[in-house]
Amino acid sequence: MAAGQSLVSLHAPNPVQDAYAKLAANAMVPVTDVVNASSAGPTALPAIGGDQLAPDSLAPAALDPQSEVDVQNLTKAVDIGAQLAKKASVLQQALAGGAPEAALVGGAAYVLPTVGRFTSGFGGRWGVFHYGIDLANAIGTPIYAVTDGVVEESGPASGFGMWVVLKHPDGTHSVYGHINRSLVTVGQKVKAGQEIAEMGNRGQSTGPHLHFEIWAPDGTKINPLPWLAAHGIKIDTAGAGNGPGD
Ligand SMILES: [Zn+2]
Repeated sequence: MAAGQSLVSLHAPNPVQDAYAKLAANAMVPVTDVVNASSAGPTALPAIGGDQLAPDSLAPAALDPQSEVDVQNLTKAVDIGAQLAKKASVLQQALAGGAPEAALVGGAAYVLPTVGRFTSGFGGRWGVFHYGIDLANAIGTPIYAVTDGVVEESGPASGFGMWVVLKHPDGTHSVYGHINRSLVTVGQKVKAGQEIAEMGNRGQSTGPHLHFEIWAPDGTKINPLPWLAAHGIKIDTAGAGNGPGD
């Protein structure tokens, strides 16, 4: 059934191809009449119509369906290019402050909050539950906002010596403890990767490190490692249990 096949291929969901199909269908009427008026039987109709409607012989240059498809593909490619450029721009901005690693999840950027050696994880330890992770480096090492947020706490804090707490758009909080100095004020909006504090050794700390916590929107303190991993940030935990922390 050559005619049937031709018509099916012309009915693509595409205005120009659809118009072309209608044009072809109209063109078919006189052909059919001619065939009916002759001695040829009705069974010959589809094959004759199909031959007469061969796209190569009928398609005017202005309605070239292939050209229309090319334009659509080009438009799609430009859209994808624009989206990629926007994502690259968000990531570049997140890394501009010096954060060692950034990822883009759901349109938001996330960064590794500091450069440091992983010395302690989330969980029970020496009979005390440790509600965060510890990343050790020198005093003054930059600490970055893990993602976009608003400063909720900045200053002295029991146990942490000094801390910064950020509230993020989904209600999650990130906590940065034992800092030497805060660079932000309560109510300030911060962007992912923005330097918000310097690493310190204040409070109940056995050496310079960042104590980093994640509080779920309901206030539960959760393990930051899987939360970070879910947002594209992986931490090498090989050095756990060896070095300053708390
Ligand atoms: Zn800690």
